[in-house]
Amino acid sequence: MIQNHNKPIWDVVIVGAGIAGLTASIYLARAGQTVLLLDKGKHPGGRAISTEIAAARVNLGAHALSKSALPILQEVGVTPTGAVPKPPGTLVFEGTNGGYRAIPLAQLLLGSFLKWQEKSQLLRFYTSLSKTDTSALCKVSLQAHLEAQISSPRVRSVVLGLVRLSTYCDAPDQLSAGAVIKQLKQSQVLYIDEGWQSLVSRLTEQAQQANVLIRTSSVVIGITGSYPQMMVTLKDGSQLTTRHVISTAGPMDTLALLNPALTPMEVEAYKLTPVRTACLDLVVSGMPQPKTKFVLGADYPLYYSNHSAAASLSENPANEVVHVMKYLSASIHSDPTQDEYELKGFLDFIQPGWRKHVVQQRFLPRMLVSHGIVTAANGGLPGRPGPAVKGRPGLYVAGDWVGAEGMLINASLASAKEAAQMIIAGREKDKEGMYHGA
Ligand SMILES: Cc1cc2nc3c(=O)[nH]c(=O)nc-3n(C[C@H](O)[C@H](O)[C@H](O)COP(=O)(O)OP(=O)(O)OC[C@H]3O[C@@H](n4cnc5c(N)ncnc54)[C@H](O)[C@@H]3O)c2cc1C
Repeated sequence: MIQNHNKPIWDVVIVGAGIAGLTASIYLARAGQTVLLLDKGKHPGGRAISTEIAAARVNLGAHALSKSALPILQEVGVTPTGAVPKPPGTLVFEGTNGGYRAIPLAQLLLGSFLKWQEKSQLLRFYTSLSKTDTSALCKVSLQAHLEAQISSPRVRSVVLGLVRLSTYCDAPDQLSAGAVIKQLKQSQVLYIDEGWQSLVSRLTEQAQQANVLIRTSSVVIGITGSYPQMMVTLKDGSQLTTRHVISTAGPMDTLALLNPALTPMEVEAYKLTPVRTACLDLVVSGMPQPKTKFVLGADYPLYYSNHSAAASLSENPANEVVHVMKYLSASIHSDPTQDEYELKGFLDFIQPGWRKHVVQQRFLPRMLVSHGIVTAANGGLPGRPGPAVKGRPGLYVAGDWVGAEGMLINASLASAKEAAQMIIAGREKDKEGMYHGA
């Protein structure tokens, strides 16, 4: 780091020490860049932290790590342990009198719930996934694609349930079919031992070993200038000089930091619709139906999973971590009281008498799973904003809403790596800010 009147000039200041910030910092520091990582929170980790509840590690809502995230994590020195949740599971449909009707997944193809033609539609859809040209479907909505491929509403419900499971998103009319099919192809996940906090802790260790300076309780309120002289202002009034900045805050939070602001036309690419869930996180002492480990709504945007069935999460072997969740619609305004009531009613159906088993519970009404739905209207994954911010040399963004790769943590990891590589390669000239000119 060069000293300027005793003030350091950083190569890179990163706003946010979540998964994206930590990952970018490791690539950069290992390439010899001086890196300062700032977070407004008391600890690194952002949305990937786990909380200690009744001696168990509880993620902020149900978190499952796609195996396709492992290569980047391993590259930065993190090899998580955990296990693939095992079938069998159950799907929930609307019953005849408006109540729930549970069908074991295995019986979908073997039992009589689906007609012969419906079974064949479901099989055809899944067997064709590996051959589907996802790039041709980027600008097609999932709803339009499913209506063209599957005539049975019941089979579409099954597919939509599985789409919600792998994207957390309940907006078939907006979602890009190409992005969804890519995501479905990478559907194998791990539940992580000691929760996602173990990812955060390992990433933090690797960053510190690479000489990244991590400063928590540091709120960034402004980013000015451009490469090679940028200024980051903190809430306490201090100012930091740097050549590059990576912001891993959300799109609107990042825009609010910029002085001067982007033009109204440039801002358009950052106007995204967030993906949210209502989460009921439970530490339980067993459950009334111990064999029921995983239940997914087909006609309802609901989820139940016992994460202790696959991962080691509690010091007390009698206690288990269970996540229940509602995927919130992007178009209907949700009422937290109603959502909590619905989640508890769902539990009454699948685990009658569950209340007696609760050691501790927590309701998180509107968790931000992702900053942006990957929409057909924006052209799917290739239409998302790229890490380089247009017209701002030296400024990059990373997170689950950035870049042409993946959803959720995969996008945070891939965009963090890409932003770091652009800085390392000094690719200041390539500043379109979007992929494929979208
Ligand atoms: C309920 C739920 C379930 C999920 N399930 C899954 C799943 O199963 N699989 C999956 O892959 N992903 C899942 N995710 C998403 C995953 O947690 C996120 O994609 C990932 O943690 C995002 O990391 P990030 O670093 O991009 O963003 P964040 O974790 O949001 O990190 C951004 C950081 O920036 C900091 N910050 C923001 N503004 C400022 C500022 N002005 N100054 C200083 N610091 C600032 C914040 O404090 C934060 O720490 C889930 C998320 C939720 C909420």
